[in-house]
Amino acid sequence: SVPLSFFGGIGGASRDGILVKGGNYLEVLAKAEIVVFDKTGTLTQGVFNVTAIHPDDCSEGQLLELAALAESWSDHPISRSLKEAYGKELDPARVSEAEELSGRGVRAVVDGRTICAGNDKLMEDIGVSWHPCHRVGTTVHVAADGVYLGHIVISDQVKPDAKEAIAALKSQGVRKTVMLTGDAREVGEDVAGRLGLDEVHTQLLPAGKVEQVEALLKQVSPKGALAFVGDGINDAPVLSRADVGIAMGGLGSDAAIEAADIVLMDDKPSKIAHAISIARRTLAIVR
Ligand code: ADP
Ligand code: MG
Repeated sequence: SVPLSFFGGIGGASRDGILVKGGNYLEVLAKAEIVVFDKTGTLTQGVFNVTAIHPDDCSEGQLLELAALAESWSDHPISRSLKEAYGKELDPARVSEAEELSGRGVRAVVDGRTICAGNDKLMEDIGVSWHPCHRVGTTVHVAADGVYLGHIVISDQVKPDAKEAIAALKSQGVRKTVMLTGDAREVGEDVAGRLGLDEVHTQLLPAGKVEQVEALLKQVSPKGALAFVGDGINDAPVLSRADVGIAMGGLGSDAAIEAADIVLMDDKPSKIAHAISIARRTLAIVR
């Protein structure tokens, strides 16, 4: 549900699935100079396929089941994807004390054992070492009671309109496009390279994303603005820190819709350039 504070009729934007929370955000959007994107669910689909399962001391099926159980209560795109990949019913009674570790993974007690599932950073935090793994995607390590069990490799795809979305911003005169992600360097740089983004920062925790946006805000000229586009999962603080925060409404959480100034109902990154032209046209008419 979208709060009533979103003004429906602005410049025909709402007809195109672009909901704006008040007229002054159109003004800010019209002068966007730096556009910063979150990766997962914003430029990529947020739907991960399992490409490999590398168990250390159990079967592939057991490793996937354990990961799916540990992730079962979470709404993160990775959690949803692992549940989908497992495909079978998961008994919630086997899971307790579940906890989200933003930008790193999850921790939950499964059948009495503490399971951690997440990235390199999470393993470092809990002092568990892993074997070098081949990186053709995002790695989800799994550990039980501090013992390494293996890893699952998952991969996401860029949205079909993501590349043209970045090109359209360039042709509108947006000076800089940036991607921020908590994902691994290899994955982030691959996506950014393929989409033609000017800058990419990887392995960021939510607080690190805020720091990057604060640094980028200093590069904005007095008559410009910085827009941040995210899905609200692990990026709600940045959505509110930007001059204008734009959330993907379909995948996005209620928290995202709350924190955002503009919501895109159909999750298409190409709608950003579209929204900027509507904003510029609307202001030209008003003036
Ligand atoms: P992004 O910055 O690309 O939007 P997130 O901030 O949501 O991604 O997550 C950053 C990284 O943290 C992911 O790439 C993944 O390695 C890890 N991570 C986050 N949530 C989970 C989870 N539920 N399960 C496993 N890993 C996770
Ligand atoms: Mg995110």
